[in-house]
Amino acid sequence: MKKVTEMFGSMVFNDSVMQARLPKEVYKQVQQSIKFGARLDSETANIVANAMKDWAIEKGVTHFTHWFQPMTGITAEKHESFVSPVGGGRVIMEFSGKELIQGEPDASSFPTGGLRATFEARGYTAWDPTSYAFIKDGVLCIPTAFCSYGGEALDKKTPLLRSMEAINRQGLRVLKLFGNRDVTAVRTTVGPEQEYFLIDKNVYEKRRDLMYTGRTLFGAMPPKGQELDDHYFGTIKPRVAAFMQELDEELWKLGVLAKTEHNEVAPSQHELAPIYTTTNIAADHNQITMELMQKIARKYDMVCLLHEKPFAGVNGSGKHNNWSMTTNTGVNLLEPGETPYENAQFLLMLCAVIQAVDDYQDMLRVSVASAANDHRLGGDEAPPAIISVFLGEELEEILEAIEKDEPYGGKVKEQIKVGVHALPKFPKDSTDRNRTSPFAFTGNKFEFRMLGSSVSISGANVVLNTAVAESLRQYADALEGSENFENDLHELIRSVIRDHKRIIFSGNGYDENWVKEAEARGLLNLPTTPDCVPCYLDIKNVELFARHRVYSEIELAARYKMKLDTYCKVNRIEALTMQSMVWQDIIPVAGAYSKELADTAVAKKSLGIECGLETELAAKISRLMADAAQGVRTLKDALDSLDDIGDNYTRAVACRDRVLTAMNELRLTVDELESCTAEKYWPYPSYGDILFSVR
Ligand code: ADP
Ligand code: MG
Repeated sequence: MKKVTEMFGSMVFNDSVMQARLPKEVYKQVQQSIKFGARLDSETANIVANAMKDWAIEKGVTHFTHWFQPMTGITAEKHESFVSPVGGGRVIMEFSGKELIQGEPDASSFPTGGLRATFEARGYTAWDPTSYAFIKDGVLCIPTAFCSYGGEALDKKTPLLRSMEAINRQGLRVLKLFGNRDVTAVRTTVGPEQEYFLIDKNVYEKRRDLMYTGRTLFGAMPPKGQELDDHYFGTIKPRVAAFMQELDEELWKLGVLAKTEHNEVAPSQHELAPIYTTTNIAADHNQITMELMQKIARKYDMVCLLHEKPFAGVNGSGKHNNWSMTTNTGVNLLEPGETPYENAQFLLMLCAVIQAVDDYQDMLRVSVASAANDHRLGGDEAPPAIISVFLGEELEEILEAIEKDEPYGGKVKEQIKVGVHALPKFPKDSTDRNRTSPFAFTGNKFEFRMLGSSVSISGANVVLNTAVAESLRQYADALEGSENFENDLHELIRSVIRDHKRIIFSGNGYDENWVKEAEARGLLNLPTTPDCVPCYLDIKNVELFARHRVYSEIELAARYKMKLDTYCKVNRIEALTMQSMVWQDIIPVAGAYSKELADTAVAKKSLGIECGLETELAAKISRLMADAAQGVRTLKDALDSLDDIGDNYTRAVACRDRVLTAMNELRLTVDELESCTAEKYWPYPSYGDILFSVR
C-alpha cells in the first residue's frame, strides 16, 4: 500500500500541482481568481486547461467532464474526450481554456422548477475555480456551476457560492468594527458527518421496495433490533472494515479528508466524518463521498443505503452539519476567546447565529425537508421538526446575566460588561451533551442535525450562510456610525438576547411537553414537507435572499415548485411499488400458505385429528389478504384522485393526507400478515435477514 501522505490528493489538480506546473504569472492569476472570483482571461485559461490536460493524460485520462449538481441533489456529468482530429486520420489530445471555463450540456431533462422553457432548454456550466479539478473513474472532473442563459441558478452550487459571498461581505464589515485590519476574507466551514447503512447485496436484490425506493415499504420488526445498543462503536466486521479502508483510500486520493469511521446505533448502520473544510468544497466532497460509498459497497457485494429511513422502527440516517465561520487569518469566529475583546466579538457572532436561526426557522426547516426525511424528523431518535438552539448551561447563564445586567452566577460572581470583562471559562465538553437538539453549539461550532443522509448539504448551508449574513448586516448597520462602540455593542447584544432567547432550549427535544412549550413561545412546528414549502414564497424570505443576491424571487419560486413536485413523485413511486408487491408477491404467497393450511385441516379432519389451529390461521390469513387487497384499492383511489388537482401545493397536501395515510394502513395489514406467515412462504427477506445480513 502506498503511503497515505503520497496518496493524499494524488488525483487532485490542487494548489501544489498548479504551483509546480503553471508559469508563475498564470499561477498568480488563478490564485486571484480563487480568492476574489475574478474571471480568467482566455489566454490564461488556455494555459491552465493545457496543464490540466497534460497532468490528466499522464494519469491515463482521455475524457473530461463538467461535474455539476443539478437541483435533483445528485451530481451530473457528461463525458467528452480530449480527442481532436488533425487530418490524415490522426488525432491530437486537446483541451482549450474555453472548454475548461464554460460548457453547454444539453441539459433539457434536468428539472428546473419551470425556470426554462424548453425552446431555450440549454443551460451552461461555468468552472468554480475555488474547488479543484479531480480525476474520478479515469475522467477529469471540473467542478462547475450550472445556470440558465438568463443567469438563473439551476443547481445547488451557484446559490451556495453566492451565499459565501454574502457572509464574506457582511462578516468583513463587522470584523472591521472590531479593528481586524489583516482580515480580508470570511468563510464558513463545514464538516458533515455522514450516516449510512450497509446491507448484503443478496437481500437487497430480493426486495423491490429497496431497489425502487431505497427504503422498505413493508417489514415486521425482528425480535432483536437496536435495543441492546450493542452496535454503537462496536467492533467492525471484516467485510465492512475492508470497505471502509478502500473508501478512505479512494477519498484520500481525491483530497477528501475522511477522518473517522465507526458503527452507528442501528445494526448495519455506520458513520463517516471528514475533517471540516470551506463550505462549498465540503459540499462537493460530500457528494463524492456518497457516490463512492455506493460504488465501493458493490465491490464487496454490499449495498449502501443512503435513504433517511430505510427501516421503520430502526434509527434513520442523517447528516450532522458542523458549521462555523473563519477568517483568512485562521481565526474561528465561534471560538470563545481569551481576552475581553475576543469575547465581545465571539458573543456578537454567537448572537448572529441565534438571531438567524430564530428569524429563519422556516427556511432552515424547508432546507432539510423531503418525503424521505419526513419519516425521520420527529421520530424518537431524530431531532424534532421544531427548530431550537442548544447552547449548554454555562453559555446560556452567561447570556442571561448579560441580558439582565445581573452578576453571572458561576463560581465567581461577576457582572459581565461586554468588551470589558473576559468570559468565565466554561468546559467545552459540557456543551455537547444534548443529542436531542436540532441545532447545538458544540464548543466552537454549531451542529445542525436535521439534514437527511441523502441530500446535498448545499441547501441548508445556503440558508445558514445567508441568514447569518443578514444578522451581521443589521449589526454592521447599527454599529458603523457608533460614537461609543463598547456601550452600543453591549446594548445590541442585550437586545438580541432579549428578542431571540425564545429559540434557545436546553431541555429534551423529544419530550411531548416541548411541543406545547414551543408553541407557547411562538416557535414553528412544521412536521411535513407540504407544511414548510410555502415559506419559499414568504415575502420576508424573498426579501432576505434578494437583498443578499443569493436567490431571486423567480429562483425561489422554482425551488418551491421542485420541492412539491418531487415530494409527490417520490410518494407516487412508493405507492405504485407497494401495489405491485401486494398483487404480485404477497397475495399469491398468502393464498398458497392459506391453501396449505386448509389442505392440512381437511386431511387432519378426515383422520379425526384436531385441526382448529390450521383452520383459525387459514381464516386469519384469508381475512388479512382481503384487507390487503382492499388497502391496495384504497391506495390506488387515493393516488388517482391526485390527477385532478392542478395546483402543486394542494396536490402535495392531498398526497400527504390521502396517499401516505393509505400507505400506512396498508403497511400495518401486510406487516401483520408477514408475522403470521410461515417464513418459507414469505417472498422477501425479513428485517432480521436484512439488518444482520452483513457478516
Ligand atoms: P464530535 O462531534 O464527535 O465531538 P468533533 O467535534 O471533533 O467530533 O467534530 C465533528 C465534526 O465537526 C468533524 O467533521 C469536524 O471536522 C467538524 N468540525 C470541527 N471544527 C469545525 C469548524 N470550526 N467548522 C466546521 N466543522 C468543524
Ligand atoms: Mg458530532
